[in-house]
Amino acid sequence: MSYLELAGLQKRYGNAVAVDDVSLSVEQGESVALLGPSGCGKTTTLRMLAGLVAPDRGAISLDGGDITRLPPHRRNMGYVFQSYALFPHLTVARNIAFGLEERGVPRQEIARRVDEALALVRLAGLGQRRPKELSGGQQQRVALARALVIRPSVLLLDESLSNLDAKLRDAMRHEIRSIQRSLGITTLFVTHDQVEALTMCDRIAVMHRGRIAQIGNAEDIYDRPATRFVAEFVGRANVLPIQRDAQGRTSVWGQPLPLEAPEDGDLFVRPQRMRIAPVSEPAGESAARLTGRVLRSVFVGDHVEVLVEGGGGQLTVETPSGTTIPMEGAEVAVVWPRAESRVFAREAP
Ligand code: ATP
Repeated sequence: MSYLELAGLQKRYGNAVAVDDVSLSVEQGESVALLGPSGCGKTTTLRMLAGLVAPDRGAISLDGGDITRLPPHRRNMGYVFQSYALFPHLTVARNIAFGLEERGVPRQEIARRVDEALALVRLAGLGQRRPKELSGGQQQRVALARALVIRPSVLLLDESLSNLDAKLRDAMRHEIRSIQRSLGITTLFVTHDQVEALTMCDRIAVMHRGRIAQIGNAEDIYDRPATRFVAEFVGRANVLPIQRDAQGRTSVWGQPLPLEAPEDGDLFVRPQRMRIAPVSEPAGESAARLTGRVLRSVFVGDHVEVLVEGGGGQLTVETPSGTTIPMEGAEVAVVWPRAESRVFAREAP
């Protein structure tokens, strides 16, 4: 049994199922992201873990004990809200001390642990300020310190970086990740931002319509998406309709391309896995190939995006800057390893 186990969790609101049969095992010290679009049930799952929402079905266990019905304060979980939820009238130090005071920790120890927590989030010396006298990033750190000071068994972060500007968010990602690692603290992280999930977590659970569509590490999710939804939600993909003739032979853009495909399917290939080749270059054994015409090339700093058109469709090839970029209008081949082809059935609208 893992340190933290969610088994068959379900939560309904009226007729709507917010979370539908979510099971997840998290090891001690592991950081797991719940990633998915708005409304997929991430926050409800996190709130069930924290004890803020009671599940209709299923169970949660922590370190071998059943905590499904325990009130929030007896679960020893640190929760960082999206809005930080700091008390504006209290100093930073008192905000951080709050959970320890509630637990009746002696005053001297509180003072020592608050100082430790302030140092950990690099806010030493700012304990006497009020939250409004801090920047957004600093307030974020206070919220983190407040969650960590109780030495939680599990740290829960709910979209906690989404109020920060892009640069600060990036810095905080690395900072939280390194604190999480150095403390070895088991963490669940809710986000709709895939970069956040990919950079901050050991594993990612991609959620869709109240369920976990796939769980795995960044490479699993990105290179081996289990469902069409995951392939579309995480990273960019070229989606090319597959045609099948009466004999079951498949083609794309009207060009023969052998694929294992259902009746109505699309081919998914990541733009970075494709490369542009001269039309005269013969296709290798293990390569898939289409030909088309270059519509345009866009320089995006570290790479160039080449838009290729053929057979009424378009695709994008992402190639490193510095490689030879074909002229607009040139006839080219687009080549990729067969193993990089993913096929998913078309979904009913
Ligand atoms: P977001 O990223 O927008 O916060 P989310 O993935 O966290 O989305 P949840 O907040 O878990 O999604 O919500 C899942 C579904 O349950 C949504 O359809 C939402 O409208 C519904 N829901 C959540 N809380 C309640 C509630 N208290 N009452 C009724 N419906 C709710």
